[in-house]
Amino acid sequence: MAGGAGLPPAPQSQTMKLVKTVSSSGLYTLVVNETWCKGCRICVDLCPTHVLEMVEAPDRWEGAIVRVAQMDACNGCGICEVECPDFAISVYAPEKKKPVKAGETAK
Ligand code: SF4
Ligand code: SF4
Repeated sequence: MAGGAGLPPAPQSQTMKLVKTVSSSGLYTLVVNETWCKGCRICVDLCPTHVLEMVEAPDRWEGAIVRVAQMDACNGCGICEVECPDFAISVYAPEKKKPVKAGETAK
């Protein structure tokens, strides 16, 4: 068989949907990549200040997607960014803190 025969076509480029939310203080920003979020809710369960929530999204793998519910509760700890298995959340803070793992305390 000739090399390359039978290979699937190259994937089409996909436009990513990025949703940016900024705290009213302007100190913290969360960017959720809604294209990559699969709705596992790990970030919702690990966020220490309940910033995040799940909302229904029937087209999603788990039938849900993450949304920012109360941005002003965000302390920039970075847990959601570190623990998301799909790299779907980015945290921006004035002083980029050392990412913390679940169970550790943010410095
Ligand atoms: S941990 Fe990542 S993939 Fe899972 S719900 Fe949160 S943003 Fe989406
Ligand atoms: S940075 Fe920390 S406080 Fe802010 S949403 Fe992520 S886990 Fe919650």
